[in-house]
Amino acid sequence: MACDQYSCSLTAPVLDLATGRVHLADIWAKTPPLTTRAAQLYASWVTFQGYLFPTSAKDCKFTGNFFYNYMMGIEFNPRIGKWFDFKLFFNGRPGIVAWTLINLSFAAKQRELYGHVTNSMVLVNILQAIYVLDFFWNETWYLKTIDICHDHFGWYLGWGDCVWLPYLYTLQGLYLVYHPVQLSTPHALGVLLLGLLGYYIFRVTNHQKDLFRRTDGRCLIWGGKPRSIECSYTSADGQRHRSRLLVSGFWGVARHFNYTGDLMGSLAYCLACGGGHLLPYFYVIYMAILLTHRCLRDEHRCANKYGRDWERYTAAVPYRLLPGVF
Ligand code: NDP
Repeated sequence: MACDQYSCSLTAPVLDLATGRVHLADIWAKTPPLTTRAAQLYASWVTFQGYLFPTSAKDCKFTGNFFYNYMMGIEFNPRIGKWFDFKLFFNGRPGIVAWTLINLSFAAKQRELYGHVTNSMVLVNILQAIYVLDFFWNETWYLKTIDICHDHFGWYLGWGDCVWLPYLYTLQGLYLVYHPVQLSTPHALGVLLLGLLGYYIFRVTNHQKDLFRRTDGRCLIWGGKPRSIECSYTSADGQRHRSRLLVSGFWGVARHFNYTGDLMGSLAYCLACGGGHLLPYFYVIYMAILLTHRCLRDEHRCANKYGRDWERYTAAVPYRLLPGVF
């Protein structure tokens, strides 16, 4: 609504409302109406997701709180038959593909409106497409992320992947349709370098952990034999298992340096939009909240899982995201 009716300004609608120039109902009246067809589709999707019987009773988590169950999901790996896996499909297909397609259509719209595509739009398209391509290129790595390994499939994942991601991760492109920012060469180069550096840190950090775990430590990290902390934990069936936490490479710099790289890339997308409005900065603000919360959530889980061994790890690598700061 802010973009469509107020050229992406967040303050103008608030001021208009505060001074009584418009009422919420006026803004609402100009938004696309809900159609019967859309309502039917949405209702059947939600119903389908909320009542589908679990395919594997052992993988279910019932908390007794209906809203929590609905939000965070009951079943761990819901599937239809052998081939259709809900988590893989929703996490890895419609939303993430739409991200790139929507960005490309914003570039096309800019060209249609102004006769050219700005360097800021090119940067946003390239940097975000690298992130999406990386996802597909490293799809097997993705199977080891928290979304797949620990989260159950509910509204949080389903709605997040299909609605939140394609609508809100593309806000920079949408903003640039209304504000065709042309960056100076140093500004554009700065954004490009920050974006590429962030991507490099994100990719290498994720790769180091994946390689270390895959080869059981028989690999080289930054040219040397990796150092690690031996851990043990007990699974729900009472079995004792061994694992190892890497303390070499970027995993020795901070406990979630992959998130730091991701945040640097996120900042670069936003900086490509200049400093005219707050709205395109939504992405980095949101990612900072998401990844900080995720980091705390993950560490809570790891502390419960590894106990004393996790304390030895946090003593060896004391910072979470940024050495010396957090
Ligand atoms: P990680 O890939 O960091 O996985 C965390 C898990 O790794 C922990 O639960 C633990 O699992 C294991 N681990 C922790 N420390 C170590 C260590 N030192 N050595 C070896 N294993 C360790 O987290 P995510 O799955 O959240 O993130 C993956 C990537 O996806 C990140 O780069 C993140 O930025 C990105 N991401 C992007 C999002 C977006 O919307 N753009 C959303 C979410 C994530 P175990 O129990 O196996 O020990």
